Amino acid sequence: MFERYHIPLKTVQSRAAPVPKFVIVRADNCMNCGKCEKACIYGVHKRSEQDPRKMADPINQLCKNCFRCIQDCPQRSLVMMPGPEFRSLGRGTWTPLRITTIWGEAETGKIPVFGAGYRGMFTGPGYDGMWTDMSEIVRPTRDGIHGREFISTSVDIGRKPAYLDFGKDGSVETKFPPIIELPIPVVMDVTRLRTSSEGMLTGFAQAAGHLDTLLIAPPGLLPSGASAELNSHYVPAYPEGTDVDSIELQDGVRMVELQLGPSWKDDLKQFRYRFPGTVLSFRLNAAKDSESTVLDLVKSKVEVVHVLYDEESVELDSLDGRHAKESLRAIHKAMVSKAVRDQITLIAGGGIAAAEHVPKSIICGADVVALEKALVIALECRDCFTCSKGSCPINLHNAPADWVGGRVTNIVGAWRDQLLEVLGAMGLREVRRLRGELGRAIFYEDVEREAFSDVLGGSGDG
Ligand code: SF4
Ligand code: SF4
Repeated sequence: MFERYHIPLKTVQSRAAPVPKFVIVRADNCMNCGKCEKACIYGVHKRSEQDPRKMADPINQLCKNCFRCIQDCPQRSLVMMPGPEFRSLGRGTWTPLRITTIWGEAETGKIPVFGAGYRGMFTGPGYDGMWTDMSEIVRPTRDGIHGREFISTSVDIGRKPAYLDFGKDGSVETKFPPIIELPIPVVMDVTRLRTSSEGMLTGFAQAAGHLDTLLIAPPGLLPSGASAELNSHYVPAYPEGTDVDSIELQDGVRMVELQLGPSWKDDLKQFRYRFPGTVLSFRLNAAKDSESTVLDLVKSKVEVVHVLYDEESVELDSLDGRHAKESLRAIHKAMVSKAVRDQITLIAGGGIAAAEHVPKSIICGADVVALEKALVIALECRDCFTCSKGSCPINLHNAPADWVGGRVTNIVGAWRDQLLEVLGAMGLREVRRLRGELGRAIFYEDVEREAFSDVLGGSGDG
Protein backbone atom coordinates (compact mmCIF):
# COMPACT_ATOMS: atom_id res chain seq x y z
CA MET A 1 0.00 0.00 0.00
CA PHE A 2 1.21 3.52 -0.76
CA GLU A 3 2.65 5.19 2.29
CA ARG A 4 3.49 8.83 2.33
CA TYR A 5 7.03 9.55 3.52
CA HIS A 6 6.96 11.03 6.96
CA ILE A 7 9.81 12.08 9.24
CA PRO A 8 9.01 11.55 12.94
CA LEU A 9 9.87 14.86 14.62
CA LYS A 10 9.70 15.73 18.29
CA THR A 11 11.32 18.39 20.43
CA VAL A 12 14.79 17.38 21.62
CA GLN A 13 15.89 19.86 24.27
CA SER A 14 19.37 21.35 24.22
CA ARG A 15 21.96 20.09 26.71
CA ALA A 16 24.18 23.19 26.68
CA ALA A 17 23.49 26.69 27.94
CA PRO A 18 21.81 28.90 25.30
CA VAL A 19 23.87 31.50 23.46
CA PRO A 20 21.74 34.65 23.05
CA LYS A 21 22.25 36.73 19.94
CA PHE A 22 21.81 39.94 21.92
CA VAL A 23 22.24 40.64 25.61
CA ILE A 24 20.47 43.26 27.70
CA VAL A 25 22.78 45.16 30.00
CA ARG A 26 21.40 47.06 32.99
CA ALA A 27 23.42 50.15 33.93
CA ASP A 28 24.21 51.32 37.49
CA ASN A 29 21.69 54.17 37.32
CA CYS A 30 18.81 51.63 37.48
CA MET A 31 16.47 52.65 40.29
CA ASN A 32 14.81 49.21 40.56
CA CYS A 33 11.35 50.52 39.79
CA GLY A 34 10.37 47.24 38.06
CA LYS A 35 8.85 48.79 34.93
CA CYS A 36 10.94 46.49 32.77
CA GLU A 37 9.45 43.48 34.55
CA LYS A 38 5.97 44.66 33.56
CA ALA A 39 7.10 45.61 30.06
CA CYS A 40 8.65 42.27 29.17
CA ILE A 41 6.07 39.57 28.49
CA TYR A 42 8.84 36.98 28.04
CA GLY A 43 10.03 37.08 31.65
CA VAL A 44 13.53 38.40 30.99
CA HIS A 45 13.39 40.89 33.90
CA LYS A 46 12.68 39.63 37.39
CA ARG A 47 13.34 40.86 40.90
CA SER A 48 16.24 39.30 42.76
CA GLU A 49 15.21 36.36 44.91
CA GLN A 50 17.79 37.26 47.54
CA ASP A 51 16.82 40.92 47.75
CA PRO A 52 13.44 41.74 46.14
CA ARG A 53 14.21 45.44 46.37
CA LYS A 54 16.66 44.95 43.51
CA MET A 55 16.33 43.65 39.95
CA ALA A 56 18.09 40.37 39.07
CA ASP A 57 20.37 40.06 36.05
CA PRO A 58 18.32 39.79 32.81
CA ILE A 59 17.69 36.20 31.57
CA ASN A 60 19.03 36.97 28.11
CA GLN A 61 18.15 33.72 26.41
CA LEU A 62 14.44 34.53 26.79
CA CYS A 63 14.74 37.93 25.12
CA LYS A 64 13.06 38.32 21.72
CA ASN A 65 14.74 41.66 21.03
CA CYS A 66 11.53 43.66 20.88
CA PHE A 67 13.08 46.74 22.59
CA ARG A 68 9.97 47.34 24.71
CA CYS A 69 11.78 47.32 28.07
CA ILE A 70 14.40 49.65 26.67
CA GLN A 71 11.75 52.14 25.60
CA ASP A 72 9.83 51.84 28.89
CA CYS A 73 12.78 52.35 31.22
CA PRO A 74 12.46 55.86 32.71
CA GLN A 75 16.15 55.91 33.56
CA ARG A 76 17.41 54.83 30.12
CA SER A 77 19.30 52.14 32.04
CA LEU A 78 18.89 49.30 29.60
CA VAL A 79 21.05 48.72 26.55
CA MET A 80 20.90 45.88 24.05
CA MET A 81 24.17 44.75 22.52
CA PRO A 82 25.39 41.78 20.46
CA GLY A 83 26.19 38.79 22.67
CA PRO A 84 29.96 38.22 22.83
CA GLU A 85 29.63 34.42 22.88
CA PHE A 86 27.27 34.50 19.91
CA ARG A 87 29.73 36.59 17.93
CA SER A 88 32.56 34.15 18.65
CA LEU A 89 30.71 31.16 17.17
CA GLY A 90 31.97 29.55 13.95
CA ARG A 91 33.95 31.01 11.07
CA GLY A 92 33.61 31.61 7.31
CA THR A 93 30.49 29.99 5.88
CA TRP A 94 29.63 28.76 9.37
CA THR A 95 28.38 32.11 10.65
CA PRO A 96 26.99 32.54 14.20
CA LEU A 97 23.47 32.91 12.77
CA ARG A 98 23.79 29.71 10.71
CA ILE A 99 25.06 27.80 13.74
CA THR A 100 22.30 28.96 16.09
CA THR A 101 19.72 28.42 13.35
CA ILE A 102 20.85 24.79 13.06
CA TRP A 103 20.59 24.46 16.86
CA GLY A 104 17.00 25.68 16.73
CA GLU A 105 16.11 23.37 13.82
CA ALA A 106 17.70 20.39 15.61
CA GLU A 107 15.77 21.17 18.79
CA THR A 108 12.32 21.64 17.26
CA GLY A 109 12.44 20.09 13.78
CA LYS A 110 10.66 23.24 12.58
CA ILE A 111 11.42 25.80 9.91
CA PRO A 112 13.08 28.82 11.56
CA VAL A 113 11.12 32.06 11.47
CA PHE A 114 12.92 35.38 11.52
CA GLY A 115 9.91 37.48 12.41
CA ALA A 116 11.66 40.85 12.43
CA GLY A 117 12.48 40.57 8.73
CA TYR A 118 15.82 40.08 7.04
CA ARG A 119 18.27 42.88 7.68
CA GLY A 120 21.45 41.41 6.24
CA MET A 121 23.25 41.51 2.90
CA PHE A 122 21.51 40.22 -0.20
CA THR A 123 24.63 38.65 -1.64
CA GLY A 124 27.93 37.25 -0.45
CA PRO A 125 30.54 34.61 -1.20
CA GLY A 126 29.70 31.06 -2.28
CA TYR A 127 26.07 30.02 -2.19
CA ASP A 128 25.12 33.47 -0.84
CA GLY A 129 25.77 34.83 -4.35
CA MET A 130 23.04 32.60 -5.76
CA TRP A 131 19.32 33.40 -5.62
CA THR A 132 16.62 30.86 -6.34
CA ASP A 133 13.52 31.50 -8.45
CA MET A 134 10.48 31.55 -6.16
CA SER A 135 8.07 33.04 -8.70
CA GLU A 136 5.22 30.65 -7.85
CA ILE A 137 5.33 31.48 -4.14
CA VAL A 138 1.94 33.17 -4.25
CA ARG A 139 0.08 29.96 -5.16
CA PRO A 140 -1.37 28.59 -1.92
CA THR A 141 -2.19 25.19 -3.43
CA ARG A 142 1.48 24.47 -3.83
CA ASP A 143 2.01 23.35 -0.29
CA GLY A 144 4.15 20.26 -0.06
CA ILE A 145 4.54 20.35 3.70
CA HIS A 146 0.92 20.28 4.71
CA GLY A 147 -0.03 17.90 2.01
CA ARG A 148 -2.43 19.81 -0.23
CA GLU A 149 -0.24 18.95 -3.19
CA PHE A 150 2.20 16.06 -3.22
CA ILE A 151 5.79 17.02 -3.92
CA SER A 152 8.29 14.18 -4.20
CA THR A 153 11.77 14.43 -2.72
CA SER A 154 12.74 10.90 -3.80
CA VAL A 155 15.99 10.26 -5.63
CA ASP A 156 17.75 7.19 -7.01
CA ILE A 157 21.36 6.32 -6.30
CA GLY A 158 22.93 4.15 -8.97
CA ARG A 159 23.18 3.77 -12.71
CA LYS A 160 20.00 3.90 -14.73
CA PRO A 161 19.96 1.95 -18.02
CA ALA A 162 19.93 4.28 -21.05
CA TYR A 163 17.42 2.03 -22.85
CA LEU A 164 15.50 -1.24 -22.37
CA ASP A 165 16.04 -4.52 -24.24
CA PHE A 166 12.99 -6.62 -25.00
CA GLY A 167 12.82 -10.31 -25.89
CA LYS A 168 10.78 -11.75 -28.76
CA ASP A 169 7.86 -12.30 -26.38
CA GLY A 170 7.97 -8.67 -25.30
CA SER A 171 9.51 -9.37 -21.91
CA VAL A 172 12.13 -6.98 -20.59
CA GLU A 173 15.58 -8.53 -20.94
CA THR A 174 17.62 -5.60 -19.63
CA LYS A 175 19.79 -6.55 -16.68
CA PHE A 176 19.16 -3.75 -14.20
CA PRO A 177 22.17 -2.52 -12.28
CA PRO A 178 21.72 -2.19 -8.51
CA ILE A 179 19.91 1.00 -7.54
CA ILE A 180 18.86 2.52 -4.21
CA GLU A 181 15.79 4.70 -3.89
CA LEU A 182 15.93 7.27 -1.11
CA PRO A 183 12.94 9.37 -0.01
CA ILE A 184 15.17 12.43 0.46
CA PRO A 185 18.11 13.77 -1.54
CA VAL A 186 20.21 13.87 1.62
CA VAL A 187 22.68 11.34 3.04
CA MET A 188 24.98 11.63 6.05
CA ASP A 189 28.75 11.32 5.88
CA VAL A 190 30.70 11.10 9.14
CA THR A 191 34.03 9.98 7.72
CA ARG A 192 35.61 13.45 7.91
CA LEU A 193 34.22 14.65 11.26
CA ARG A 194 36.83 16.01 13.66
CA THR A 195 35.11 14.47 16.63
CA SER A 196 32.94 11.43 17.22
CA SER A 197 32.10 8.94 19.95
CA GLU A 198 30.26 5.65 20.19
CA GLY A 199 27.10 7.46 21.34
CA MET A 200 27.29 9.91 18.45
CA LEU A 201 27.85 7.21 15.82
CA THR A 202 25.03 5.07 17.22
CA GLY A 203 22.79 8.15 17.17
CA PHE A 204 23.71 8.94 13.55
CA ALA A 205 22.89 5.33 12.60
CA GLN A 206 19.53 5.64 14.40
CA ALA A 207 18.78 8.85 12.50
CA ALA A 208 19.66 7.18 9.17
CA GLY A 209 17.05 4.53 10.03
CA HIS A 210 14.39 7.08 11.06
CA LEU A 211 14.98 9.05 7.88
CA ASP A 212 15.34 5.99 5.65
CA THR A 213 18.58 7.37 4.25
CA LEU A 214 22.25 6.32 4.22
CA LEU A 215 25.04 6.85 6.71
CA ILE A 216 28.50 6.88 5.13
CA ALA A 217 31.02 5.95 7.81
CA PRO A 218 34.36 4.19 8.27
CA PRO A 219 34.26 0.38 7.94
CA GLY A 220 33.40 -1.58 11.08
CA LEU A 221 30.94 0.98 12.45
CA LEU A 222 28.23 -1.60 13.09
CA PRO A 223 28.87 -4.78 15.06
CA SER A 224 29.20 -7.99 13.02
CA GLY A 225 25.83 -9.23 14.29
CA ALA A 226 23.92 -6.09 13.21
CA SER A 227 20.62 -6.80 11.47
CA ALA A 228 20.29 -6.59 7.69
CA GLU A 229 17.83 -3.72 8.21
CA LEU A 230 20.42 -1.71 10.18
CA ASN A 231 23.14 -2.56 7.66
CA SER A 232 20.93 -1.42 4.79
CA HIS A 233 21.38 2.19 5.95
CA TYR A 234 25.13 1.88 6.42
CA VAL A 235 27.67 2.64 3.68
CA PRO A 236 31.22 1.61 4.65
CA ALA A 237 33.77 4.03 3.16
CA TYR A 238 37.20 2.55 2.47
CA PRO A 239 40.36 4.66 2.17
CA GLU A 240 42.49 4.85 -0.96
CA GLY A 241 44.60 1.76 -1.55
CA THR A 242 42.19 -0.69 0.10
CA ASP A 243 42.53 -4.15 -1.43
CA VAL A 244 39.01 -4.94 -2.68
CA ASP A 245 39.71 -8.64 -2.07
CA SER A 246 40.04 -7.91 1.65
CA ILE A 247 36.58 -6.28 1.91
CA GLU A 248 33.97 -8.32 3.76
CA LEU A 249 30.44 -6.94 3.53
CA GLN A 250 27.84 -7.60 6.18
CA ASP A 251 24.42 -8.88 5.26
CA GLY A 252 22.15 -6.07 4.03
CA VAL A 253 24.80 -3.50 2.98
CA ARG A 254 23.53 -1.86 -0.23
CA MET A 255 26.36 0.51 -1.08
CA VAL A 256 30.11 0.86 -0.56
CA GLU A 257 32.39 3.87 -1.05
CA LEU A 258 36.01 3.65 -2.18
CA GLN A 259 38.37 6.63 -2.23
CA LEU A 260 39.45 7.12 -5.84
CA GLY A 261 43.10 6.18 -6.39
CA PRO A 262 45.35 5.26 -9.34
CA SER A 263 44.13 1.63 -9.29
CA TRP A 264 40.42 2.55 -9.54
CA LYS A 265 39.82 0.61 -12.78
CA ASP A 266 41.10 -2.63 -11.21
CA ASP A 267 39.14 -1.86 -8.03
CA LEU A 268 35.99 -1.41 -10.09
CA LYS A 269 36.47 -4.68 -11.96
CA GLN A 270 37.19 -6.60 -8.78
CA PHE A 271 34.26 -5.01 -6.93
CA ARG A 272 31.82 -5.86 -9.73
CA TYR A 273 33.06 -9.44 -9.68
CA ARG A 274 32.78 -9.85 -5.90
CA PHE A 275 29.68 -7.76 -5.16
CA PRO A 276 27.52 -7.58 -8.30
CA GLY A 277 24.39 -6.57 -6.39
CA THR A 278 25.97 -3.72 -4.43
CA VAL A 279 26.21 -0.09 -5.53
CA LEU A 280 29.77 1.22 -5.69
CA SER A 281 30.48 4.91 -5.17
CA PHE A 282 33.90 6.44 -5.76
CA ARG A 283 34.89 9.28 -3.42
CA LEU A 284 36.67 11.99 -5.34
CA ASN A 285 38.47 15.01 -3.87
CA ALA A 286 37.09 17.94 -5.87
CA ALA A 287 39.80 19.54 -8.02
CA LYS A 288 40.27 21.68 -11.12
CA ASP A 289 40.12 18.62 -13.40
CA SER A 290 37.14 16.91 -11.71
CA GLU A 291 35.07 17.26 -14.90
CA SER A 292 37.42 15.05 -16.93
CA THR A 293 37.84 12.57 -14.04
CA VAL A 294 34.08 12.20 -13.74
CA LEU A 295 33.76 11.70 -17.52
CA ASP A 296 36.39 8.91 -17.33
CA LEU A 297 34.41 7.30 -14.51
CA VAL A 298 31.17 7.49 -16.49
CA LYS A 299 32.89 5.94 -19.51
CA SER A 300 33.91 2.97 -17.33
CA LYS A 301 30.30 2.62 -16.16
CA VAL A 302 30.89 3.76 -12.59
CA GLU A 303 27.45 4.33 -11.11
CA VAL A 304 28.01 6.88 -8.31
CA VAL A 305 30.59 9.61 -7.69
CA HIS A 306 30.80 11.38 -4.35
CA VAL A 307 32.60 14.70 -4.86
CA LEU A 308 34.20 16.05 -1.69
CA TYR A 309 34.63 19.76 -0.96
CA ASP A 310 36.07 21.36 2.15
CA GLU A 311 34.09 22.95 4.99
CA GLU A 312 33.73 26.13 2.92
CA SER A 313 32.46 24.15 -0.11
CA VAL A 314 35.71 24.81 -1.95
CA GLU A 315 37.68 22.29 -4.04
CA LEU A 316 40.23 20.34 -2.02
CA ASP A 317 43.06 19.65 -4.40
CA SER A 318 43.99 23.14 -5.52
CA LEU A 319 45.13 26.33 -3.79
CA ASP A 320 42.77 28.59 -5.70
CA GLY A 321 39.96 26.04 -5.71
CA ARG A 322 36.55 26.84 -7.13
CA HIS A 323 33.47 26.96 -4.97
CA ALA A 324 31.13 23.97 -5.35
CA LYS A 325 28.72 26.39 -7.01
CA GLU A 326 31.10 26.65 -10.01
CA SER A 327 32.68 23.21 -9.75
CA LEU A 328 29.40 21.27 -9.68
CA ARG A 329 28.05 23.28 -12.59
CA ALA A 330 31.19 22.47 -14.60
CA ILE A 331 30.93 18.74 -13.84
CA HIS A 332 27.22 18.70 -14.65
CA LYS A 333 27.67 20.63 -17.90
CA ALA A 334 30.54 18.37 -19.01
CA MET A 335 28.30 15.32 -18.60
CA VAL A 336 25.33 16.99 -20.30
CA SER A 337 27.50 17.93 -23.29
CA LYS A 338 28.50 14.25 -23.68
CA ALA A 339 24.87 13.14 -23.19
CA VAL A 340 25.80 10.93 -20.24
CA ARG A 341 24.32 12.90 -17.35
CA ASP A 342 21.70 10.31 -16.41
CA GLN A 343 24.21 7.49 -16.31
CA ILE A 344 25.67 8.48 -12.97
CA THR A 345 24.56 9.77 -9.58
CA LEU A 346 26.48 12.75 -8.28
CA ILE A 347 26.71 13.17 -4.51
CA ALA A 348 28.16 16.48 -3.27
CA GLY A 349 29.53 16.83 0.25
CA GLY A 350 31.35 19.47 2.29
CA GLY A 351 30.29 22.92 3.46
CA ILE A 352 26.53 22.30 3.46
CA ALA A 353 25.73 24.73 6.28
CA ALA A 354 22.10 25.72 5.77
CA ALA A 355 18.85 24.30 4.46
CA GLU A 356 19.06 26.50 1.36
CA HIS A 357 22.39 24.88 0.40
CA VAL A 358 20.57 21.63 -0.41
CA PRO A 359 18.44 23.00 -3.30
CA LYS A 360 21.30 25.26 -4.40
CA SER A 361 23.70 22.28 -4.71
CA ILE A 362 21.04 20.37 -6.63
CA ILE A 363 20.43 23.29 -8.99
CA CYS A 364 24.19 23.35 -9.65
CA GLY A 365 24.12 19.68 -10.66
CA ALA A 366 24.19 17.38 -7.61
CA ASP A 367 21.63 14.58 -7.33
CA VAL A 368 22.20 14.05 -3.63
CA VAL A 369 23.77 16.17 -0.90
CA ALA A 370 25.90 14.73 1.93
CA LEU A 371 25.67 16.39 5.34
CA GLU A 372 28.87 16.38 7.37
CA LYS A 373 29.72 19.20 9.78
CA ALA A 374 26.05 20.23 10.06
CA LEU A 375 25.44 16.91 11.84
CA VAL A 376 27.79 17.89 14.66
CA ILE A 377 26.59 21.49 14.76
CA ALA A 378 23.09 20.03 15.27
CA LEU A 379 24.52 18.56 18.49
CA GLU A 380 25.33 22.10 19.71
CA CYS A 381 28.99 22.01 18.67
CA ARG A 382 30.47 25.53 19.03
CA ASP A 383 32.94 25.00 16.19
CA CYS A 384 35.60 26.16 18.66
CA PHE A 385 38.24 23.55 17.75
CA THR A 386 39.09 22.87 21.41
CA CYS A 387 38.27 19.21 20.79
CA SER A 388 41.52 19.07 18.84
CA LYS A 389 43.21 19.76 22.21
CA GLY A 390 41.19 17.07 23.96
CA SER A 391 38.41 19.07 25.60
CA CYS A 392 34.92 20.12 24.61
CA PRO A 393 32.92 22.88 26.35
CA ILE A 394 29.69 20.94 25.82
CA ASN A 395 31.03 17.41 26.42
CA LEU A 396 29.87 16.20 23.06
CA HIS A 397 31.47 12.82 23.69
CA ASN A 398 28.93 12.10 26.41
CA ALA A 399 25.92 12.85 24.21
CA PRO A 400 23.48 9.94 24.50
CA ALA A 401 22.68 8.08 21.28
CA ASP A 402 18.90 8.71 21.46
CA TRP A 403 19.46 12.44 21.90
CA VAL A 404 21.87 12.49 18.91
CA GLY A 405 19.44 10.49 16.77
CA GLY A 406 16.56 12.83 17.65
CA ARG A 407 18.49 16.05 16.95
CA VAL A 408 19.81 14.80 13.61
CA THR A 409 16.38 13.53 12.55
CA ASN A 410 14.95 16.95 13.43
CA ILE A 411 17.45 18.93 11.40
CA VAL A 412 16.98 16.77 8.31
CA GLY A 413 13.21 17.03 8.81
CA ALA A 414 13.40 20.83 9.03
CA TRP A 415 15.63 20.99 5.96
CA ARG A 416 13.33 18.72 3.97
CA ASP A 417 10.40 20.99 4.82
CA GLN A 418 12.41 23.95 3.55
CA LEU A 419 13.24 22.02 0.38
CA LEU A 420 9.50 21.40 -0.08
CA GLU A 421 8.90 25.15 0.38
CA VAL A 422 11.45 25.93 -2.33
CA LEU A 423 10.07 23.31 -4.72
CA GLY A 424 6.51 24.52 -4.08
CA ALA A 425 7.54 28.13 -4.64
CA MET A 426 9.15 27.10 -7.93
CA GLY A 427 6.11 25.14 -9.04
CA LEU A 428 8.07 21.88 -9.14
CA ARG A 429 6.53 18.61 -8.05
CA GLU A 430 9.66 16.54 -7.70
CA VAL A 431 13.22 17.24 -6.64
CA ARG A 432 14.64 15.20 -9.53
CA ARG A 433 13.50 17.98 -11.87
CA LEU A 434 15.51 20.53 -9.94
CA ARG A 435 18.86 18.92 -10.75
CA GLY A 436 20.91 21.14 -13.03
CA GLU A 437 17.98 23.52 -13.53
CA LEU A 438 20.23 26.55 -13.81
CA GLY A 439 17.39 28.63 -15.15
CA ARG A 440 15.89 28.38 -11.66
CA ALA A 441 18.67 30.48 -10.16
CA ILE A 442 20.30 33.83 -10.62
CA PHE A 443 24.03 34.09 -10.03
CA TYR A 444 25.29 37.37 -8.64
CA GLU A 445 28.40 37.42 -10.84
CA ASP A 446 26.26 37.00 -13.97
CA VAL A 447 23.97 39.87 -12.97
CA GLU A 448 26.92 42.07 -12.08
CA ARG A 449 28.59 41.37 -15.42
CA GLU A 450 25.41 42.06 -17.37
CA ALA A 451 24.75 45.27 -15.45
CA PHE A 452 28.19 46.80 -15.43
CA SER A 453 30.28 45.40 -18.29
CA ASP A 454 29.14 48.15 -20.70
CA VAL A 455 29.61 50.87 -18.12
CA LEU A 456 33.08 49.67 -17.25
CA GLY A 457 34.07 49.14 -20.86
CA GLY A 458 34.30 45.36 -20.56
CA SER A 459 33.34 42.85 -23.21
CA GLY A 460 30.53 41.43 -21.14
CA ASP A 461 32.16 38.10 -20.54
CA GLY A 462 34.53 38.86 -17.70
S1 SF4 B 1 12.65 50.03 34.45
FE1 SF4 B 1 14.72 50.66 34.29
S2 SF4 B 1 15.09 51.65 36.21
FE2 SF4 B 1 13.36 50.43 36.42
S3 SF4 B 1 14.09 48.53 37.18
FE3 SF4 B 1 13.95 48.32 35.01
S4 SF4 B 1 15.91 48.88 34.36
FE4 SF4 B 1 15.78 49.60 36.36
S1 SF4 C 1 13.75 43.57 24.54
FE1 SF4 C 1 11.67 42.82 24.70
S2 SF4 C 1 11.91 40.64 24.98
FE2 SF4 C 1 13.86 41.53 25.40
S3 SF4 C 1 13.91 41.88 27.57
FE3 SF4 C 1 13.19 43.77 26.68
S4 SF4 C 1 10.97 43.59 26.67
FE4 SF4 C 1 11.79 41.53 27.02
